[in-house]
Amino acid sequence: MSKTTNIIKIIRGTTVDGPGFRTSIYFAGCRHECPGCHNPSSWNFKTGTPYTVDDLMPVIEEEDFDVTLSGGDPLYHPGFIKNLVAKIHELGHNVWLYTGFRWEEIITSPLLSDAIIDVDVIVDSPFILSLRDTDLLFRGSSNQRIIDVKKSLAQSDGNIVLWDRNSNVNFS
Ligand code: SF4
Repeated sequence: MSKTTNIIKIIRGTTVDGPGFRTSIYFAGCRHECPGCHNPSSWNFKTGTPYTVDDLMPVIEEEDFDVTLSGGDPLYHPGFIKNLVAKIHELGHNVWLYTGFRWEEIITSPLLSDAIIDVDVIVDSPFILSLRDTDLLFRGSSNQRIIDVKKSLAQSDGNIVLWDRNSNVNFS
């Protein structure tokens, strides 16, 4: 039987979780416990409805939008994320992923770095209430970074390459 993961909600056609119209999928479960979190009820891994990767694909196909994975924190489901991203790319859509883990934690973890290897853009780091800024594009606090994953992984010095909003939206 295919593995299921609980999904809190799916929003179709949102414009706040990355460029263009997107299908946003919100995964249940988060242990970062950021003070001021926009949705503490998402911390519960048992909230929401169980989905397999194959259950999600028709929803994504139906709308034909690029996709954002959020939560909760989707990186608490690394195997599921890796499979889902591969299937979304087969449809030709790019994938953004929001996580409370820092980039430096992700790339030094064999499990997390494997999960994100094909993600296009990661918005990383926990939300910090004292750094909250409602004018920021696609993020809640100024410590969070919008990271171009492929370009960053290609840096031999380990430097992060930030997403360039003027680059082609469909860069996967
Ligand atoms: S990482 Fe996101 S969902 Fe998790 S506690 Fe922080 S703000 Fe909330």
